[in-house]
Amino acid sequence: MPAEPDWQREIKQVLPAAKRRARCFSTYTQTTAYHEAGHAVAAFFLGIEIDHVSLYHGRDSGGRVVYQKPLPPTDSREWVVSVAGDLADARIRGPIGVEVPGLEHHLQEAAEIFGAESAAEIIETARGLVELPEIWRAIDLLAKVLLYARKLDGKVVKAIVMASHTKV
Ligand SMILES: [Zn+2]
Repeated sequence: MPAEPDWQREIKQVLPAAKRRARCFSTYTQTTAYHEAGHAVAAFFLGIEIDHVSLYHGRDSGGRVVYQKPLPPTDSREWVVSVAGDLADARIRGPIGVEVPGLEHHLQEAAEIFGAESAAEIIETARGLVELPEIWRAIDLLAKVLLYARKLDGKVVKAIVMASHTKV
């Protein structure tokens, strides 16, 4: 019986690690989808027009929401939208209330503009939004569609949020 070629042995050795990495990666991409969906749905409910939402797979996995008119940092809605993204991905990673990366940072930055009390209110407003069942349904649906579509026009985002309110 011929000996196993070196390359075959090498592939066998790296395969388990590659599979493990693929699983981690897809979890990361899913988390990103919920993060962006959290921003987008919060923006929708606060009346901020979205141009598009995108999600990139691959090495530079990430995503973003582009608004028709970006809000200035002095508009508290901008902060609610930012925090909603952090909370949405935290919720999909584990039970809400677990440590939310980015939240402390946002709280400090918002406190510099609005004062500590208003900054805490901003966080609570975002938490209230993300925890509302109908808003979570919209985030969940949008994240799932985004995973497949990768880029969604603002009009489509609106349609998906509306659709999440109808039982199918
Ligand atoms: Zn974000």
